[in-house]
Amino acid sequence: MSDCIFCKIANKEMGKLIYEDELVAAFDDVNPQAPVHVLIIPKEHIEKLLDIQDEQHKELLGHILMVANKIACERGIADAGYRVVVNCNKDAGQSVWHLHFHLLGGRKMHWPPG
Ligand code: 5GP
Ligand code: ZN
Repeated sequence: MSDCIFCKIANKEMGKLIYEDELVAAFDDVNPQAPVHVLIIPKEHIEKLLDIQDEQHKELLGHILMVANKIACERGIADAGYRVVVNCNKDAGQSVWHLHFHLLGGRKMHWPPG
């Protein structure tokens, strides 16, 4: 998707990746909501979580969560605790239409979310 900002970041046309492999890319959120706020995205342009329907995407989803664990360990937030969030569609507050997983940590977080 040529006009998708997260595709551009994944393709290294802008921004800076902190992690990448054949399936996913990760980078710091431009407007962090916690001391650690990383976005993990599939390299494939998938608009939203609801569009995950293929069998082949099961591996992708599991992989993204394992990458979240790895980055949480590397950033030193794993033991204290961290949160992984996906906002899907309008009421959840999705604002970028390329599937992304927020990895948040480094401070005490509230529950339930507002
Ligand atoms: P959403 O609201 O869709 O769940 O999350 C979108 C996230 O993307 C927000 O936390 C926002 O700060 C982040 N974001 C939006 N544009 C950019 C950008 O150009 N670069 C980076 N690094 N993050 C972005
Ligand atoms: Zn995209």
